[in-house]
Amino acid sequence: FREQMLKAQKIELASHMSAAISHEVRNPLTAVQGFLQLASEDPNLQKTTKGYIDIALTELNAAEHVIKNYLTFAEPSMHSVEKFHASDELHQIIKTLQPLANMNSVVVNIEDSDLCVIFGDRSRFRQCFLNIMKNCIEAMPNGGTLTIHTYLKNHEVKISVCDTGIGMSADQVKRLGEPYYSTKGKKGTGLGLMVSFSIIREFKGTVKINSKIGKGTEFLVTFPAYLHVHS
Ligand code: ADP
Ligand code: MG
Repeated sequence: FREQMLKAQKIELASHMSAAISHEVRNPLTAVQGFLQLASEDPNLQKTTKGYIDIALTELNAAEHVIKNYLTFAEPSMHSVEKFHASDELHQIIKTLQPLANMNSVVVNIEDSDLCVIFGDRSRFRQCFLNIMKNCIEAMPNGGTLTIHTYLKNHEVKISVCDTGIGMSADQVKRLGEPYYSTKGKKGTGLGLMVSFSIIREFKGTVKINSKIGKGTEFLVTFPAYLHVHS
C-alpha cells in the first residue's frame, strides 16, 4: 500500500512539474533562443564563441522538442471547459500525426459517431489522445493499422485506439503512466502517458489497456457523455 501511495505521489508531482515546465519555461526558452540566434549572426564573432552558441542552440532545440511533443496542447493558464464532439478533435489529431503515420507506413482508420459529445477542456483532450496515438504509431515501425473507434454506450463515450504493433507484456502494461518509464532510450521521455492518464482523470474517465506481444495494443478510454438537458 505504501508503495502505491508513493507511486501516486510521484505521478502527482511529475504531472505538476510537466504542467509548470510547459507553462513557465516555454516563454523564457523562446526568448533565449531568439537572442542566441541574434548573437550568432554577429559578424565580429570569434569562431570559438560561435561554436559555443551553436551548441547552446542545439541543446535548446532538444528541450523544445520535449515540450512540443509531450505538452503541446497543455496550456494550464487557459483552461476553458465546454461541450465538444470527440470526433472533431480526433480528426484534428490525425491530421497532426499523418506525416508520422506516413513515415511508418501506418494506415489510419477512423470509425466515429457524432453522438459522442463530452464536456471539458478540448485542448487537454487533444493532448491526451495525441500522446496515446503517437505511441501507437511508434509501436508500428514497419507499418500497420491504427484504428480509432468512437461510440456511445450506456450514456458513456467510448474511444478505442488500437494498433497492430509490437505489443507489451503484462508487466510493461502495469508500468504505463509511471513517470519516466520509457523503452525508447534517448527518443523517449516516459512522460506522454503520465500526462494522458492525468487528463483522463481530469475528465472523470477511465482507461483500459489490452495488449499482446507481437499482436498490438488497444487503449479503451471511457468518458461520461455530455447529455443535452436543454434542446
Ligand atoms: P515515451 O513514448 O516517451 O517512451 P510514454 O509515456 O508515451 O513515453 O510511453 C511509455 C512506454 O510505454 C513506451 O516507451 C512504450 O514502451 C510503452 N508503450 C506505450 N504505448 C505503446 C503501444 N501502443 N505499444 C507498445 N508499447 C507502448
Ligand atoms: Mg510517447
